[in-house]
Amino acid sequence: MNPFAVAGGEVWTFTVPLKSPFVTALGSKTQTTNAALRLRLKGGAEGYGEASSSIVIKRLSPETLARSLRGLLTRLRGRDVREIEPLAADIWRLCPDANAAAAAVECAALEALLAARAIPMAEWFGGAQDSIETDLTISAWPPRQAAEGALAALKQGFRTLKIKVGTSDKAEDLKRVEAVSRAAARLGRRITLILDGNQGFHAEGALRFAERALRLGAAVALFEQPLERGKLKEAAWLSRRSPVPLAADESVRSPAEALEVLWAGAAEVVNIKVAKLGLRRSLDVAALARAAGKGLMIGCMQESARGLSPSVHLACGLGVFSYADLDSDVLLDEGRGHGAAVLGGRPFSFPGEGQPRGGFTREGPILRL
Ligand SMILES: [Mg+2]
Repeated sequence: MNPFAVAGGEVWTFTVPLKSPFVTALGSKTQTTNAALRLRLKGGAEGYGEASSSIVIKRLSPETLARSLRGLLTRLRGRDVREIEPLAADIWRLCPDANAAAAAVECAALEALLAARAIPMAEWFGGAQDSIETDLTISAWPPRQAAEGALAALKQGFRTLKIKVGTSDKAEDLKRVEAVSRAAARLGRRITLILDGNQGFHAEGALRFAERALRLGAAVALFEQPLERGKLKEAAWLSRRSPVPLAADESVRSPAEALEVLWAGAAEVVNIKVAKLGLRRSLDVAALARAAGKGLMIGCMQESARGLSPSVHLACGLGVFSYADLDSDVLLDEGRGHGAAVLGGRPFSFPGEGQPRGGFTREGPILRL
């Protein structure tokens, strides 16, 4: 018997309410339903992976993601996880249309391999740091609610806030930025702001918005994805003129797209998310961005704390991220989660219940391994 061969596993979906509605330029949600899998090796070691459903990519429903997880798990039976590189390549080849599902299976396979070898995942990626400071996202709420959210975050110790902008009401977007900035000033706190446009601007509008935000005295360090993905010429135009560096998020769903963005000069920073790139491709994109002399951010979707673990380990292991937006565990109310089995006979257990929170602890903005 090969103890490193994939034996099987379980797939389930679970729903977790958000503490407050999550609102972006592209839609809003009050809860998330994620698909999860537990992959088991013949030797007994297990790995966990989680695919968070997206507001944006509606065809990737939790049920579709769960089906992809189930299909991949079946196809991988008997495969040796020590061959993690070709295994990861095959996972992405077999599942080209559901990045979050491919990423989840890749995470589960690597977790199982490392569990069998008793290697912490951060060590596998280089072991650069044992902690990382993250921002907290302020949704596209009305300005007063955004200010209240910011005050609560500042009291928890957050020093960087990411504000969702780019909605149909740009005047209110600006008021939101101003309200958050003023709330920090009232507390006598210096904060750094990241604006996330979620593709909601045109180039001239984005330029005006960044200039106005700075004129209000807001300390904006980064403007994430103001323009529609694929508009690389316009993004390059904006990047040359913007007083705030641009970050590419939706524009980079693969290493090939990262290459195009970097070649076009369309961003100064690339936002890497395990949910859209998986682990192996995240390493590729990080290498490309660094080779181009650009900065790196790490983000997340709406993973539970357990599902966020590979991102925390990747970030700490590599130690190359100037911006960390790993906050889904703060935004979700995991105590009120519930789930349903999709594949496998084991009784469902909500990830995190009676278990460590997934290989890291959080004290306010600090994630520690
Ligand atoms: Mg974003």
